[in-house]
Amino acid sequence: KKTANQLLVIFGASGDLTARKLVPSLFNLYIARQLPENFVVLGASRSDMTDKDFRNRVVLESKYLKPRLEDLKENYIQGFSDKFFYEDLGGDYDTHYDRLRKRVEDLNNKYHTEGNIIYYLSTPPTLYETIASRLAEVELNKENLGWKRLIVEKPFGYSLDTAKALNNGLQKYFSESQIYRIDHYLGKETVQNLLVTRFANTIFEPLWNRNYIHHVEITNAESVGVEKRGGYYDKSGALRDMFQNHLLQIVSLIVMEPPIGDEPEEIRNEKVKALKSLRIMKNDKELHDNTIRAQYMDSTINGEKVKGYRQEEGVDKNSTTETYAAIKFFVDNWRWKDVPFYVRTAKRMPTKVTEVVIHFKSPHHHIFQNSGVNNKDNKLIIRIQPDEGILMKFGVKVPGQGFKVERANLDFYYSSLAQTHVMEAYERLLLDCMQGDATLYARADEVEAAWEFVDPILKYWETGDDVRMYGYAAGVWGPENADELIEGIGYWRNPSSN
Ligand code: NAP
Repeated sequence: KKTANQLLVIFGASGDLTARKLVPSLFNLYIARQLPENFVVLGASRSDMTDKDFRNRVVLESKYLKPRLEDLKENYIQGFSDKFFYEDLGGDYDTHYDRLRKRVEDLNNKYHTEGNIIYYLSTPPTLYETIASRLAEVELNKENLGWKRLIVEKPFGYSLDTAKALNNGLQKYFSESQIYRIDHYLGKETVQNLLVTRFANTIFEPLWNRNYIHHVEITNAESVGVEKRGGYYDKSGALRDMFQNHLLQIVSLIVMEPPIGDEPEEIRNEKVKALKSLRIMKNDKELHDNTIRAQYMDSTINGEKVKGYRQEEGVDKNSTTETYAAIKFFVDNWRWKDVPFYVRTAKRMPTKVTEVVIHFKSPHHHIFQNSGVNNKDNKLIIRIQPDEGILMKFGVKVPGQGFKVERANLDFYYSSLAQTHVMEAYERLLLDCMQGDATLYARADEVEAAWEFVDPILKYWETGDDVRMYGYAAGVWGPENADELIEGIGYWRNPSSN
């Protein structure tokens, strides 16, 4: 695809995300010659910086880029850093937009970016609407000359109401087709590969339904605790931070019906339909029986003492914010009726891993009665991270007399495909937006459908009767009570086992 000449304006350009992810992604695109011929970046935030200061900060002296620049020719590096400019917005991102407009026009004229602009909002979310409205005031949202696109970072709201308010707020100034809500999980190759696995093969899709699938399990585990983000995390929690966005995005790709084609709206329409078919939990009993929340306690991991969640810096000593969430739910549609889904996400787990496990049903008639295969039915394991790939478990005959059956693995590692450079999530997503492809960005109705499902759980956890908060030792697979959720159906797979 061709990428049009354009200007990228980053709000919050002095922040962590800009230096750590956005500029390195642009650098990868520069090396891969994927940036358009005429392309410049205008950083904007409250910090007092010159163009030169900004170039030093995010390129030449950046700890994220500097090591990669060492063997490169000076004029090649300069070719990249000369693309960066900076505008001090002052105040609270609330004034100085006339000046910003003038700067944008000057850059556009000088560098021939044809009036095409991406605005990347990399500030605290409380500023998103203000920035959008100020841009509109000085008509920087108008598409009379070139297109205008707005990228917003998560979180997309804090609840259903706040998500709706944010969507409405932004849509006052930019049309939905101009708004790109970034969820970096969707930029991962393995997440996109869910679509290809399902819809480019004939061997999985005929089995992808209630007739053959027993249950679906998704685990997202981090080995670290909240680290320096205690203050932020304590207002968010596992359900908001991971489940509402990243994990429900994965769920929608597993649950969705085949789209009619690969156009962004065709895929996104099916994802919305999938999210709308999740059965919303209605009463306290359902919420009580199908949700588990917990916090990690202090413990010793590999001989090192680690703090419990409530002792972490920035965390309330009586906090009721969950660092572990496990949810069981059903999908009310033709394909998935009565198939339970189990999704868990947590910090301070034994290892960092994200995987989807499709558990297939047992053969309906066991010929090999004494085969020793109890509870070892076929599984398709899609590893999202690390060791990205797909693992299929199936039965083979043990050599020798009789019919003893053992599990064997068919294992595919994504890295074995990667002779070429595998794009990082932000790199892929930025390039998509530059080319106007919104497939991997979340649409307003998708975000709201996800909140519709999550909101009752959060409300119940905040105010319901008999809501329990479990504890688990840092470095184990969550509280024992989480096993009760899946009991009778199976057990949580240990992702560390093969
Ligand atoms: P950050 O470093 O905390 O903030 C970005 C910039 O916003 C700061 O450099 C600061 O610039 C400005 N800012 C901060 N607080 C402000 C306030 N109260 N009022 C006005 N300006 C303020 O954030 P970040 O880590 O770069 O992340 C940016 C956005 O991406 C956030 O919305 C975050 O939720 C989202 N996000 C980040 C990550 C990540 O990995 N970092 C991941 C997912 C989502 P000035 O003071 O110079 O104006």
